[in-house]
Amino acid sequence: MGTRGRQIVGLDVDGLLATLNRALADEWLAHYQYWVGSKVVMGPMKDAAVAELVQHAADEMRHAEMVSLRIVQLGGTPVLKPADWYGLSNCGYDAPEDPFIQKVLQQNIKGEQCAIEVYDRLVKETFQKDMVTYNMAQAILADEVEHEEDLQSLLEDYEAMMERARIR
Ligand code: MG
Ligand code: FE
Ligand code: FE
Repeated sequence: MGTRGRQIVGLDVDGLLATLNRALADEWLAHYQYWVGSKVVMGPMKDAAVAELVQHAADEMRHAEMVSLRIVQLGGTPVLKPADWYGLSNCGYDAPEDPFIQKVLQQNIKGEQCAIEVYDRLVKETFQKDMVTYNMAQAILADEVEHEEDLQSLLEDYEAMMERARIR
């Protein structure tokens, strides 16, 4: 823990650490949802979906790295047990039990929309109170906004293609 680094935080640090551990649980669940989704997804445009899911899985793990480093800097402990992820998580986990591309994209879009809300809240809570966490949260928020748009445009392409096929 950095003692001066912790002192300058103008927020209740234990409360902030709890918020960060909830975000950390979200990131690991999001990572796994994308990772396993990339293994099972099927249907038209499967290759494009796999490429996007693999990239997002890596991004979510990088977010877990960023959030856990900040937890340690502030004197906290990153959640130690995967069994605790469900209980801590804001956004939960949607198992891709139906691996059809449309369903997998919809599930992950829902997850991204939740992540956007989580980091938008954290950005607002930390603004001018904890600039280090603020910078981290806004960087992650920008990624989650990009993720949502990537998946929504893929879903739009998929739906446009199916619509064309139906008309013919
Ligand atoms: Mg992407
Ligand atoms: Fe993330
Ligand atoms: Fe994301």
